[in-house]
Amino acid sequence: MTSICSYLRPDIASMAGYTPGEQPKVGEILKLNTNENPYPPSPAALEAIGSFATPRGAELLRRYPDPVGVDFCKAAAGALGVRPENIIIGNGSDDILTILTRAFVPQGGTIVSPTPSYLLYETLARLQGARFVTVPFTDNWQLPDPWPQRGASITFLPNPNSPSGTVLSLDSVRRLTEQLNGPLIIDEAYADFADGNALELVREGLPVVVTRTFSKGYGLAGLRFGFAVADPTLISHLVKVKDSYNCDAISLAAATAAISDQHWLLENRRLVLATRARLANELANLGFEVTPSHANFVWCRHPSHPAPPLYTALKNEGILVRLMHYPPHAPGLRITVGTEVGTSRLLAALARLVG
Ligand SMILES: *Cc1c(COP(=O)(O)O)cnc(C)c1O
Repeated sequence: MTSICSYLRPDIASMAGYTPGEQPKVGEILKLNTNENPYPPSPAALEAIGSFATPRGAELLRRYPDPVGVDFCKAAAGALGVRPENIIIGNGSDDILTILTRAFVPQGGTIVSPTPSYLLYETLARLQGARFVTVPFTDNWQLPDPWPQRGASITFLPNPNSPSGTVLSLDSVRRLTEQLNGPLIIDEAYADFADGNALELVREGLPVVVTRTFSKGYGLAGLRFGFAVADPTLISHLVKVKDSYNCDAISLAAATAAISDQHWLLENRRLVLATRARLANELANLGFEVTPSHANFVWCRHPSHPAPPLYTALKNEGILVRLMHYPPHAPGLRITVGTEVGTSRLLAALARLVG
């Protein structure tokens, strides 16, 4: 009998697929590998989720959710200083990146991103039957100027970048848009931990899309919610590409409550940035080369202790960090900023391992 798999698109059958960071069962494991927020989300978001376990909530759950999330778009527009028409909702920002790829990249088109950066962009290219081209960052994590890949169907720029945690100035991003003959997607998954963002470029009418997520700064990775900010006419085209009901009623209500609680966001940011400074400082004291971070993780290497055995030794102690290898560079560790207690546990383990 013929296997049903033999009917798959050959490029799908042979592709590797995106490998997310490991997700062990909650327990004694200290999880510092996927940049989740170490603190619980806004109480307002939790209350919104709880309100679904009521007769009124049951009625809302019986019906389909708002396909475009009008209430969320209003709340987000207020928080960000843009208009509700500038916003499209997504089931996580990865959904937004998929929608953008479907909308802009024809089969045989080209997706470009700097490297080392977010690994999902290559998966999106494979799924779309597109070419994937990378442009190396300079040695100090800047963009080469001139930019060598101007004709891409879409260019993805994570800012702040992962795994480096570095950030490009608004001027560098603007300079890139001036050189491209195509849309620039500025993936701002970590903008809540940085000092600036590129919303200004959307307001100026440049051909850019800014994407955001609730998984990092808002502490809601389990919820799956993200959004994009762009030109209103573009948004109306993107809405045609997305699944009609890509966001459920519970996540819409929670995300609306969370983005309306900017006080929680700023307080959480203050805590994470304080621990980030301590983590970077103490890693440097242990001899690590630490890249200055504008995100909720740090990227580091030790000159005399290679990253792979450090990763394994930490894992054996119940501490998960992310081991990343972007040849020709040596492998490095991307370590999420945890709580103060979690960070102390990590640093004590590393002190034993490299001391
Ligand atoms: C975490 C992350 C995302 C994905 O966020 P989700 O909303 O959880 O899908 C997108 N881009 C980058 C660079 C990220 O690190």
